[in-house]
Amino acid sequence: MLLLNGIKLPLEHDQLLLADLCAKRLGCPREVLRRVQLLRRSVDARDKRDVHLVVSALVTLDDEEAETALLAACRSKQVSLYRPKELPALPKAPAAGPRPLVVGAGPAGLLAALTLARAGARPILVERGRPVEERAADVARFLAGGGLRENSNTLFGEGGAGAFSDGKLTTGTKSPFIPGILRDFVRFGAPEEILTDAKPHIGTDRLLPMLQALRAQLLALGAEIRFSTCLTGLVLRDGALRAAVLEGPEGAYELEAEHLLLCIGHSARDSFAFLHRLGVAMEQKPFSMGVRVEHPQALIDRAQYGGFAGHPALGAADYKLFCHLKGGRGVYSFCMCPGGRVIPATAEQGLLCVNGMSAYARDGENANAALLVGVEPADFGAADPLAGVRLQQKYEALAFREGGGDFRAPAMRMENFLRGGDTLGFGQVTPSYRPGVTPGDLNACLPPYVTEALRAGIAAFARQLKGFDLPDAVLTGVETRSSSPLRLPRGEDLQSLSVRGLYPVGEGAGYAGGILSAAADGVRCALAVLQGE
Ligand SMILES: Cc1cc2nc3c(=O)[nH]c(=O)nc-3n(C[C@H](O)[C@H](O)[C@H](O)COP(=O)(O)OP(=O)(O)OC[C@H]3O[C@@H](n4cnc5c(N)ncnc54)[C@H](O)[C@@H]3O)c2cc1C
Repeated sequence: MLLLNGIKLPLEHDQLLLADLCAKRLGCPREVLRRVQLLRRSVDARDKRDVHLVVSALVTLDDEEAETALLAACRSKQVSLYRPKELPALPKAPAAGPRPLVVGAGPAGLLAALTLARAGARPILVERGRPVEERAADVARFLAGGGLRENSNTLFGEGGAGAFSDGKLTTGTKSPFIPGILRDFVRFGAPEEILTDAKPHIGTDRLLPMLQALRAQLLALGAEIRFSTCLTGLVLRDGALRAAVLEGPEGAYELEAEHLLLCIGHSARDSFAFLHRLGVAMEQKPFSMGVRVEHPQALIDRAQYGGFAGHPALGAADYKLFCHLKGGRGVYSFCMCPGGRVIPATAEQGLLCVNGMSAYARDGENANAALLVGVEPADFGAADPLAGVRLQQKYEALAFREGGGDFRAPAMRMENFLRGGDTLGFGQVTPSYRPGVTPGDLNACLPPYVTEALRAGIAAFARQLKGFDLPDAVLTGVETRSSSPLRLPRGEDLQSLSVRGLYPVGEGAGYAGGILSAAADGVRCALAVLQGE
């Protein structure tokens, strides 16, 4: 197979045009090409007068000899022989010993359990929350103003933190497991274009049934899943794991375990507390704090695509902005949700944190994204590993109070945030956050070093993206959980530095950020368990 990179395609095209352009690049008639397959598709919108696609394609000729000859003749740096990377076969799980235990059914835990189950290890997966269909009902009730269920919400439950999200699958991680994970996602119902899009996304409406199909596969492969079951302790002997203490519907009990993959995400603060008490190695880690910003999606589309805005081949536009301030802090946009809405991302009473989600169609009125400022351990005010968590809690409590004490979020217009003035109402942008917003002052919910950096960052972003400082844009707060404020360090064998048999995995362990990197870390750690047998 030949790999052709950098092919420029107009937004409107068909397969024949792609084949013609491949043939032209190779300097041969189109009839010589036996198969032309799209490998990667991205949008080039740098010149707003000429927004187009840039694709990579795989071309198959009659045989390898013909491909090598054509490659030599065409002399293009954009053409090469394509050799897909083969991963080694899965090691077989041993028949003896306790079944491996996976704690947490987010992307890391699910993919770890799937890898173990495929190897025949019959893992036990425990999840403090409920199956996704029951969880979806709990979330709907909460968003409509019903109470928060502490173990079943937008953070906890089958699917983990990424279940109610945009389902963006972009990652800076270059893990060899990612192509296989994407193929699995498609097998379980994700849209096929995630295999080719440079910025793939699934959307909450497609993620939920996908999680059900993944569960069915796990069960079919011999995994056992215990929902509403929380890991509350570990039994350790001579620095090694002996058992897990679990609390489920049947009460508290011990389960013998030699290998425990701890995939608990970054919001399991009660779990971090007991792990710290037990002496599990833990250290502080930088994270970020800020707000969500909402603009009309049409404004973002125009700013990014000019006259091409609204073209069906483009969909809703996104953005990614970054600036480095003089004082040394970085300000950046994060987890942008085109056509999405702002939601609570909280699992504790009295604390409020926001995030964003979208449906697959990304067809909501507003675009939203986190606007974040880097926070360093020097800002934490204490040296212990849980100091970052306490800092998050402090500002989440302030936001909860400023919002009115019932999970409404404090929100204000951009103009008021930048220049002061009353915070009473909203203009052309209607806040999308449910259960609802309270006009409030976000300066009262974040430290001054964050709000001042945000103001400077917004001014810089307005120079990068036209209209970003729209006076009526809405800021909602606070956003404190874009990543974990601590790390559970592990050795080369991926086990905890302090407890043999304990594998800290995914975002909560500080080794991933985002759905895909957490899932890839899950696969990697499951393989370490299998190889270490
Ligand atoms: C609203 C929202 C939108 C997001 N959007 C995106 C996006 O579009 N793209 C993207 O890449 N990332 C997104 N993220 C981030 C992404 O969801 C996380 O990076 C990812 O889910 C981390 O995976 P994980 O498996 O490590 O942890 P989690 O997904 O947090 O999963 C941890 C699981 O462990 C369970 N658990 C915790 N403690 C225990 C315990 N003691 N016992 C048993 N179970 C326990 C929890 O209930 C949870 O299900 C979003 C996050 C949120 C909150």
